[in-house]
Amino acid sequence: MAHLHAAEALLPEGWARDVRITLGPDGRIAAVGQGPAAPGDHRAGALVPAPANSHSHAFQRAMAGLSERRGAGEDSFWTWRALMYRFLETITPAQVEAIAAFVQMQMLEAGFGSHVEFHYLHHAPGGQPYADLGEMSARIAAAAATSGMGLTLLPVLYRFGGCDRRALAGGQLRFGNDPDRYARLVEAAARALAPLPDARLGVAPHSLRAVAPDDFAPLAALTDGPIHMHLAEQIPEVDEVRAAYGARPVDWALDHLDLSPRWCLIHLTQMTPAETTALARTGAVAGLCPLTEASLGDGIFDGVRWMGAGGAISLGSDSNIRISLAEELRQLETSQRLRDHSRAALATAEQSTGRRIFEASARGGAQAAGRGAGVIAVGEPADLLALDMTHPDLEGLAGDTILDSFAMAGGSEMVADVWSGGRHMVRGGRHVAREAITAAYRAAVRPLRDG
Ligand SMILES: [Zn+2]
Repeated sequence: MAHLHAAEALLPEGWARDVRITLGPDGRIAAVGQGPAAPGDHRAGALVPAPANSHSHAFQRAMAGLSERRGAGEDSFWTWRALMYRFLETITPAQVEAIAAFVQMQMLEAGFGSHVEFHYLHHAPGGQPYADLGEMSARIAAAAATSGMGLTLLPVLYRFGGCDRRALAGGQLRFGNDPDRYARLVEAAARALAPLPDARLGVAPHSLRAVAPDDFAPLAALTDGPIHMHLAEQIPEVDEVRAAYGARPVDWALDHLDLSPRWCLIHLTQMTPAETTALARTGAVAGLCPLTEASLGDGIFDGVRWMGAGGAISLGSDSNIRISLAEELRQLETSQRLRDHSRAALATAEQSTGRRIFEASARGGAQAAGRGAGVIAVGEPADLLALDMTHPDLEGLAGDTILDSFAMAGGSEMVADVWSGGRHMVRGGRHVAREAITAAYRAAVRPLRDG
């Protein structure tokens, strides 16, 4: 069994010094104690739970930086989607695997401890299923085997092109399944995950625009894992749902879905104050993607009201235009400040900004990933992040201020080591297979960029 010793560690009851942790052969924390380091211990500066990255569409990483021109007329989310659909005309399973491994490597190097993939790219161009219905799921699983990152795979049910149930068209054909084929796809995804020691399987109705109200109950019965759905991201989506269902998206979900801590609702950037408070109280996690939401101009999640109502949060990198745990934390906080003309918006009298949002993201991220409690405790998955306390902006700091500096002033350069499910994948700030994974990514994206 491996041991690590941290000068300082964030435990469920708070910060502790001289913490010695034993990693079990099952990838979980076998023991947590206090005392001096023993010979052979891995020495860590500040050890904290490594949060799950709770929302990602891995293949979109290859589009990062390529959709920043103004289109004819209103340049908006919808022109960005048009670029994505052009990409979808050619991307292959092998390219998806290489891109996903690179994304997971960058997530680990940023300090994320596991990856939740909201996986909707299932079929060949034109919509023909691959010989193995779970081909693309197997590629995401193979990427996780390469990167060593704990995976929660959420095959997505995507049936319609809008609330009016128009048929899918163009690039969307690669996403489509009816409920029967979706059930078989979930079975195929379970087989694809079987070789991974700590993978989880959940389900994801894409959005209220893409599934029918009767789809939710059978879909929830397919696994006992988490249920994720995009909800209330864009104003046109709110208008479309209101026109079709007679209610705003979150109001409709509150009235018609069996919302619970099993759910993670992605974005929630378009909520009224009453929706915010009522949804927070269901125990569902708000799956926030602050960098992508800013990039797409979605709007600002009401974190002050949500967290004030006891709502759970997690962080994801969604479009993967930029993969940085510290920057997601910072964008979440600074968006509140810009809206409210405030400072330390998400801090409380007891907890500083960095401590509160980091710890909440670790706990909520684990909930959203179906991966324990997101704390450093016996029996929990060993998803651990060691910050480099010799970094000039961390040296000499202690307690909550370490997380304030990481979240508000720092970045991935402060990440020393990351363990995912006990696998020590980032050492000295670098993924152990960075060269090979990066070379495969370069080869995969070259033809996509030439096209
Ligand atoms: Zn998304």
